[in-house]
Amino acid sequence: MTDTSAPADADTRRAVAPVICYPNDRLPVPKTEQYQTARATAQQTAHTQVPPRQARCFYVTAGSFFRISCPDGAQVGDLNLFAARNLEERFFSGKTRALHGSHVKQGDRLWSCLPYLRPMATITEDSLAWYGVDEFGGRVHDVIGTRCDPYTHHMLSGQDYHNTCHSNLTRALADELHLSLSEAEAHIHDVLNVFMCTGFTRDSGQYFMKASPARAGDYIEFFAEIDLLGVLSACPGGDCGAEHSSDAAQCHPLDVTVFAPKAGQLDGWYAPSNNRYSRRHAPE
Ligand SMILES: [Zn+2]
Repeated sequence: MTDTSAPADADTRRAVAPVICYPNDRLPVPKTEQYQTARATAQQTAHTQVPPRQARCFYVTAGSFFRISCPDGAQVGDLNLFAARNLEERFFSGKTRALHGSHVKQGDRLWSCLPYLRPMATITEDSLAWYGVDEFGGRVHDVIGTRCDPYTHHMLSGQDYHNTCHSNLTRALADELHLSLSEAEAHIHDVLNVFMCTGFTRDSGQYFMKASPARAGDYIEFFAEIDLLGVLSACPGGDCGAEHSSDAAQCHPLDVTVFAPKAGQLDGWYAPSNNRYSRRHAPE
């Protein structure tokens, strides 16, 4: 039997202070003031409505802004992002979490996967910034929840259930790019959970969700650092106050609105290049 009794110096070992893995002061700094100035006179160029319990694709040109809003009431959105012309470069939820924390906020970036690892988008506004952290440790807009999917559902219930964000995202990408469902599915990845209120329980460390605090009209807005293809699912869990793959939850649409700045507003700003690591993976 493994000896799991606490050693004599257990308290000393537990008292070691944590170290932030990735201090934010070393990250490339977004040009926040220039973004704000450019946004002030930007004009709407596109709009996509995601119907309840479905997903839709949208495109955003580098240097434009896109706003995700819930016009009719609290609705969780599961967001996938790709480089518009290269599906291999996709949103890296895990590294975004490691760099910025379990939930993202204004000024944080959404980073792309290896070997690209560059900012895909920067959060420029969040009407839910007031929420902060609640008494349960819940926060809004997580990069921990992966997405609701039919495989986990089947494992837990033995039932086939198709109304999940994973299946919604798969179908929407397949329709947009004329891929088979299995081809499209291979590109679907861990999401940003827009408007979702989540955390980990203190005692058991389990992932929890609670009803989204979003009100009709709440929004989160991003600056597109590169040309983007987005896929957004209006989660069948609605506000995710009860369950996240559900025929019973009240669901609402999500809006994606794109705004393009006027000419000259982004002078001096450039889309970030791919990560500059040599990719040799071994010393010379
Ligand atoms: Zn979902």
